[in-house]
Amino acid sequence: MSGLLSGQVCIVTGASRGIGLATAIRFRDEGARVYGLSRTKPEADIPWILCDITDEASIDSAINSIIQKENRIDVLVNNAGITRDGLLMRMKTEDWDAVLASNLRSAFLLSRAVSRLMLKQRSGCILNMSSVVGLHGNGGQANYAASKAGLIGLTKSLAKELSSRNIRVNAIAPGYIETSMTAVLPETARESLKTAVPLQRPGRPEEVAEAALFLCSDRAAYITGIILNVDGGMGM
Ligand code: NDP
Repeated sequence: MSGLLSGQVCIVTGASRGIGLATAIRFRDEGARVYGLSRTKPEADIPWILCDITDEASIDSAINSIIQKENRIDVLVNNAGITRDGLLMRMKTEDWDAVLASNLRSAFLLSRAVSRLMLKQRSGCILNMSSVVGLHGNGGQANYAASKAGLIGLTKSLAKELSSRNIRVNAIAPGYIETSMTAVLPETARESLKTAVPLQRPGRPEEVAEAALFLCSDRAAYITGIILNVDGGMGM
């Protein structure tokens, strides 16, 4: 099969729905051999491995099973994430820990798990799903913003650390994208989010997937360490 990711072995976390699923489908349609990692079965028919990305043993077992089958890993997309919003004074320590573990610690564990093979291959690509909130902060989302800002530091550090072995590391900062994550927001919050978007509409998961495809393909062969906003201008 021909395509921008022809024959490439790609891992997408949080591929059961939303941005992760759209990315996995887009990659598959470009000829990739995609593996989706999540706790529940994807809403579409893509190869799926049950994995809880907060659990190191679960990550190691998922990555090892892919390595045994494919003997290589070309792309890792650290997309899975959660929110546990609340104002600082009311934020429970468990909510802080859960968000940091799901959104940031997981990306460290997964990147470390795939890097050994990528270093040996002398090629690879890691893409982290950050957020405009990681760049600008957001009241009521201190835990989420800290995790997404942490992903930016992780992205730039790994880009510097791994570039000599031809491993590129980038991040996307989506704005307001219509998925189950934002569907739970009150109508008033969604309306005010929309007014904060210069393009005057929410984004679609497929629009983020398109940027992910670009950054993970050879078309971005000379791009590493960047944070690409996909936000309708929201983060300007
Ligand atoms: P969804 O809530 O629609 O999907 C989240 C995905 O993450 C699901 O597939 C879920 O799978 C997976 N996930 C969560 N926790 C775990 C876990 N412990 N182990 C394995 N998988 C897990 O979110 P979106 O598609 O909207 O978001 C995707 C990413 O984009 C997130 O990192 C989010 O922070 C980021 N983002 C989203 C924005 C938006 O407006 N939607 C804006 C900016 C950034 P399952 O529950 O099946 O395990």
